[in-house]
Amino acid sequence: IFNFNAGPAVLPLDILKQAQAELLNYRDTGMSILEISHRSKPYEVIHQEAEADMKALLGLGDNYRVLFVQGGGSLQFAMVPMNYLPAGRIADYILTGSWSEKALQEAKLLGQTHVAATTAGEGYRRIPSLQEIKLSDKPAYVHITSNNTIYGTQWREFPNFGDIPLMADMSSDMLSRPFDAKKFALIYAGAQKNLGPAGVTIVIIRKDLLDECPPTIPTMLRYDTYAKNDSMYNTPPCFSVYIVHLVLQWLRKNGGLAAMEKHNQEKAAFIYRQIDQSGGFYRGHAEPDSRSLMNITFRLPNEELEGAFVKEAVQAGLGGLKGYRTVGGIRASVYNAMSKEGCLALAAFMDEFRKKNS
Ligand code: PLP
Repeated sequence: IFNFNAGPAVLPLDILKQAQAELLNYRDTGMSILEISHRSKPYEVIHQEAEADMKALLGLGDNYRVLFVQGGGSLQFAMVPMNYLPAGRIADYILTGSWSEKALQEAKLLGQTHVAATTAGEGYRRIPSLQEIKLSDKPAYVHITSNNTIYGTQWREFPNFGDIPLMADMSSDMLSRPFDAKKFALIYAGAQKNLGPAGVTIVIIRKDLLDECPPTIPTMLRYDTYAKNDSMYNTPPCFSVYIVHLVLQWLRKNGGLAAMEKHNQEKAAFIYRQIDQSGGFYRGHAEPDSRSLMNITFRLPNEELEGAFVKEAVQAGLGGLKGYRTVGGIRASVYNAMSKEGCLALAAFMDEFRKKNS
């Protein structure tokens, strides 16, 4: 079945097969990947290569670290302000959907915040323009959400605020396209969409920030704890890191981020074309210049047809198309691992469904 679910984990079949074999015997250790010690050489290699591969894909040098943290994107909503929003400073948030609202909510618990831009009033149909962003005076950092999983919008071009640290939640479009990672002081992404199974969150952090973590917050909530201990202060989520490592190697082998972007653009175009050429039968939620290449959201003329669409799609081998409850309608999540064939099959189904029902 083609899996259009928004998560967790959409993975290439080859990786699932390799993991299946290594679940019984990891590289002739005679032990399962689930059993080998996180202090053993074979696991250390996985861990170190994953950090190196991530930096290579993003073109980052020695002034960045890659950390493996648990707690999901949701814990990062709190860890970012805990570490980088000191008393007397203000953190700026750009709101582009429910996940950025949640990030703001956590920061509000911890300090002063300012909404530098929001498109909430327009149902989060678009990303604000750079002109709309009004920063506070010398904010501690600016936080954005690169891809809005629920609304189906995505930043095309990232802002640059000079010396002000830019921090991003990239949970739902990490490694789906090339971008200038050096613009960011901190990036976080729960693995469970483009990178691997749930259980590990990737944090990419510029090293100078590691000196700013306040010693007063609990050890496990400080980024410097992870950096100083190579993310092994406590037992890391070994299996998730192992799969992330395989995904990173798969990405590098298949042409890196430029090839992935081309693949993702082609795939999404099949579906957006159906929306645009449907004469209003399918109505996209996102404005065209804010459309996401990862999550494609649209409505049909009524909820009854939307229900029929989801049901018949399953019968046609297309799963997970029901939209998120707050937006409704249909959501096709087409992460890196979704094939062109899957998107072509969905486009053909959309065409047929429209002809039958309009
Ligand atoms: N940020 C974004 C953009 C998301 O899409 C999600 C979940 O879908 C989250 C954060 C929350 O992540 P987690 O479930 O890992 O806490």
